[in-house]
This record gives sequence, structure tokens and C-alpha cells, in this order.
Amino acid sequence: MTARSAQSRKASEKISELERACIEKGMKMTEQRRVIARVLSESTDHPDVEEVYRRSAKYDSGISIATVYRTLRLFDIANIIDRLEFGDGRARYEISDEDGHHHHLIDMKTGQVVEFEDDKLEQLKARIANELGYKLIGDRLDLYGVPLEDDDG
Ligand SMILES: [Zn+2]
Repeated sequence: MTARSAQSRKASEKISELERACIEKGMKMTEQRRVIARVLSESTDHPDVEEVYRRSAKYDSGISIATVYRTLRLFDIANIIDRLEFGDGRARYEISDEDGHHHHLIDMKTGQVVEFEDDKLEQLKARIANELGYKLIGDRLDLYGVPLEDDDG
């Protein structure tokens, strides 16, 4: 099991990756869409719509939250980004993980989201599906926890 560090993500690579993905999907890249793509590329966390809007407004003050909503929805439908729900009613977004598969552990005390990968978990999920007579094509799994030192009753 390995925790993923924010530093392992290379922003510059992801910008071109995200734009390439958009272009490959036949998406028209307006300047505002490009700004939102850039914000997502630079994000190492899991921002919600309002946070994406705040960050986008720094690059383009003319951008509206409605545009951010529409663009995120568009990117989501095109499978360029993933929409995440961590149980608090706020949708959060991150760029789809092409070369790996990671899960999230949500710290219920601080709200911090910890990313992790685990090969054994991947094998286990595939095996369970297989034993039920299915080929695994997707899953949703989030862990919710409190720090061990706080879990004393
Ligand atoms: Zn993530």
C-alpha cells in the first residue's frame, strides 16, 4: 500500500494531458474552458465547484460559476475528470487517473483526503467480481476514518 504524494503529480505534464484529452474527445477549447482545465491540472487536492470557481477567477475574473458548473459537467461526461462524493453533499473533482487506480481515505476529523493505491486491493476486487461471474470494469470505494490516536473511545 502506498500513499500518493502531491509532489508526484507533475502539473506541466497534466496540463498537456488534459488539453490533449479534451481535443481527442472533439471538445472545443474556449479560453474559459482552458482556464478551468488549467486550474484542475494544477490542483493536487479535490476541489469542489466553488473552489474551482475561486481558483479560475484568479486567471479570468470574467468567468462565472455557471460556466464552471457547465464545464465541469462537460469534462465529467467526457470522462476527463472524475466527480467524487465524500458524504458531505459536495461534489469534488479531480482529473481521471489514466495510468493508475487510486482510492481515497477521508479523515472525518479534519476533512483531509488521503489518496492511496494498493495492488492487493485491486486484485481482491477483480477476484470478487470474478467469483461472482463478472469481469470488473469499475468500482467505487472510499474509506472513512479518524486518526488512530483519537480513536480511544
Ligand atoms: Zn484522488
